[in-house]
Amino acid sequence: MQRGRTRELPEIIITSFTDAEDYRKQYAAATARRYRASHPRKRKPEPTEVEKAAKLEKRRQYTREYDRKLRENAETRKELNRKRVERAKADPHYLDKRRVIVQKYRRKRRLVVLAHYGADGTPVCRHCGFDDPRALVIDHINDDGAVHRKTAKGLIYFWLIKQNFPEGFQTLCANCNTIKEYERTHEKLIARALCGLTRG
Ligand SMILES: [Zn+2]
Repeated sequence: MQRGRTRELPEIIITSFTDAEDYRKQYAAATARRYRASHPRKRKPEPTEVEKAAKLEKRRQYTREYDRKLRENAETRKELNRKRVERAKADPHYLDKRRVIVQKYRRKRRLVVLAHYGADGTPVCRHCGFDDPRALVIDHINDDGAVHRKTAKGLIYFWLIKQNFPEGFQTLCANCNTIKEYERTHEKLIARALCGLTRG
C-alpha cells in the first residue's frame, strides 16, 4: 500500500498571513492535514477463528506450565496449607485458637528468659525488685550495638535461648530500663563535651 506516496499531492498555498512566523505555522498545519488525508488510519484486522484459537492455546499452555512448576516446587507447602484450611473449615475458631497457642508459647519463652536474667531464678527487676513480668524487659548491660542489632525487638527471647543464655544481659523493669537509657545518653553527651574541651 504505497498509495500515499505515489499519489499527486495538492499543492499548499497560503494566501493570508501576518508575518513569517504565522506563515510557517499555517504551512506546517496544512502539511499535517494533507498527510492525514492521504494516509487513512489502518485498522488492525479482526483475528480469524484460527488465530483466536492459537492465542487461547498458547495461554492455556503457559498456565499449565506455571501450574506444573508450582506443584513441583511447593508440594510440601501446598499440603500444609491444605491441611490448615481443612482444619479452619472444620472449626471456625481454629485460627483464633492457633493464635492463642502461639502466644502461650511465646509468653512462656519470655518468662523463662526473664527468670534466668532476674534474681534467684525469678523474673524480677535487678535494680528495684519490681516483679510484674508484663513490664519487665531484657537489658544489655554494656549496651553492645552489634548484639542489639542481632536481637531485634521480639526476637531477643528466642535468640537468647538459642545462644544458651549468654552473659551480659539482665532483667530490668521498664522504668529502670528507661532511666538507665536516659542516664547513658546524658553521660555520652557529657563525655563528648569534655572531649571537646580538652581538645580545644
Ligand atoms: Zn526496676
